[in-house]
Amino acid sequence: MNLAGFQSAVGVVQAAIRLNEPMARYTTARIGGPADVLVEATSAQELKDLVVAARKWELPITLLGGGANVLVSDAGLHGLVIVNKAKRIEFREGAQVWCEAGTVLPTLARECGLRGLAGLEWAVGVPGTVGGAVVGNAGAHGRNIAADLLSATILNAADQIDEWSKSDLQFDYRSSRIKRDASRTTPYVVLAATFQLTAADPRELAKKADEFNDYRRRTQPPGASLGSMFKNPPGEAAGRLIDQCGLKGTRVGDAEISTVHANFFVNHGQATASEVKALIDVTQQRVKEKFGIELELEIELLGEWD
Ligand SMILES: Cc1cc2nc3c(=O)[nH]c(=O)nc-3n(C[C@H](O)[C@H](O)[C@H](O)COP(=O)(O)OP(=O)(O)OC[C@H]3O[C@@H](n4cnc5c(N)ncnc54)[C@H](O)[C@@H]3O)c2cc1C
Repeated sequence: MNLAGFQSAVGVVQAAIRLNEPMARYTTARIGGPADVLVEATSAQELKDLVVAARKWELPITLLGGGANVLVSDAGLHGLVIVNKAKRIEFREGAQVWCEAGTVLPTLARECGLRGLAGLEWAVGVPGTVGGAVVGNAGAHGRNIAADLLSATILNAADQIDEWSKSDLQFDYRSSRIKRDASRTTPYVVLAATFQLTAADPRELAKKADEFNDYRRRTQPPGASLGSMFKNPPGEAAGRLIDQCGLKGTRVGDAEISTVHANFFVNHGQATASEVKALIDVTQQRVKEKFGIELELEIELLGEWD
């Protein structure tokens, strides 16, 4: 790892380089130890330059959007963390919208709704960025990102830019080719995405979005969390299984299995990653004992774990 070389290579990038930066500031769970080096990218071009330089100087890369689907260990992250804040949106002819991958997904959904473009209403309450949503094929209310995605602009492992179609991305339930092929060199980076939407009445879209937000407020806990902790096993709901094990309200330190929705683990203030991990372990063990089902994490564990 050659930090000095990296710093000289990215001298053109305006963003300040922060050292030993607490990751709790960049995750929705408000949890995570320090990153060795952290930089925010404010355009797709900056994101590309940072990734190319980090690869050249052999810095391990962790790329984050909203940090809404990751649990960062208390020991933090070695190497470079890039937080993607590139958020330009362009509305194009034929009901298409193009945006940089750091665009906040609910912002995109709302902007599309205001312009009478239907498709992304389900996303008004899904935290994080378009990049993170593409990688994890985020979805809610019976629809997902794959449904309306036309193509994504990808920086590949050879530092070249490709336009990937939906089929190139090989979407699956909360997964894509990018997620499956992930490694510390970050072989594929989503720089931008284009969606094909359809024309609709903005008032109808606003009504739908309000309904989805109301539903969320009724069924999900407020405050700091990571969203759904586990994937739903085929034909089952992870939350129901956890609830049936009597685990709602189980607490380790400031981390709690929500009393509102058992698949949400909440940070009541000072929760650590190891406290959340202890809850993950006990949940997987109890569900396995009672139902013989191995719950698979929907969130990603980043950093080092004992
Ligand atoms: C309260 C709450 C509710 C939620 N509800 C839902 C829901 O209803 N449906 C749902 O699907 N999810 C839900 N989630 C989870 C989360 O919103 C999604 O997983 C979201 O898409 C994550 O986006 P992000 O930008 O935060 O990704 P991050 O957590 O920052 O990153 C996730 C992964 O994507 C990678 N990544 C991020 N950006 C890029 C990029 N540009 N190029 C390549 N790789 C990238 C990261 O390296 C990491 O591996 C919820 C989370 C919370 C906190």
